[in-house]
Amino acid sequence: MSSAVSRGSAPVPPARQPRLTVLSGPSGVGKSTVVAHLRKVHPEIWLSVSATTRRPRPGERHGVQYFFVEDEEFDKLIANGELLEWAEFAGNRYGTPRKAVLDRLEAGEPVLLEIDLQGARQVRESMSDANLVFLAPPSWEELVRRLTGRGTEAPEVIDRRLEAARIELAAEKEFDVTLVNTSVEDVSRELLALMLRRPEDRTTGD
Ligand code: 5GP
Repeated sequence: MSSAVSRGSAPVPPARQPRLTVLSGPSGVGKSTVVAHLRKVHPEIWLSVSATTRRPRPGERHGVQYFFVEDEEFDKLIANGELLEWAEFAGNRYGTPRKAVLDRLEAGEPVLLEIDLQGARQVRESMSDANLVFLAPPSWEELVRRLTGRGTEAPEVIDRRLEAARIELAAEKEFDVTLVNTSVEDVSRELLALMLRRPEDRTTGD
């Protein structure tokens, strides 16, 4: 809960409540592009770096896009309770390191997670005031085009991701807000506004 603190007689507006914002949505919808744009314009926004057992794609670096770990190391992260949430997605495991997220929230900074639907559900269970944002494609055809056009994945991997996308699209109603990814600039601006909004400003129907 944020509380107003008075300094002398001048009332000070309530402090901004740090918020955990989860951006989720089907693979290929453009979550990472939106987040990359947001961080380019607002480098002060902190994004959690996940651990994954997936191999790096060309250009990806350890500790930047992901912490790339072996299966045994991921097992240890789970066993030691070091992950806030984790999920298996298209044959690889992905998880959010717990401590970094809690430290940032404790320090009063807004935190952004870019994770899959299963992870978003786990966050909903463990942190009920998290704001769950669903990034939707303008259309199914556009999503297929984006997933196929990336050119970095084998056909069977694309099929698995399309199957996952079908399931993820049906989950939109579980989220607090939907943003349609028609323009990267517009969506990242809307996402930032959501991140900086206080919980008490949230009303139904907006
Ligand atoms: P990619 O392999 O394309 O980088 O990511 C595949 C999917 O895993 C994306 O939907 C991405 O949002 C999700 N993802 C990335 N990091 C995490 C994480 O820490 N936890 C969960 N649950 N999903 C993640």
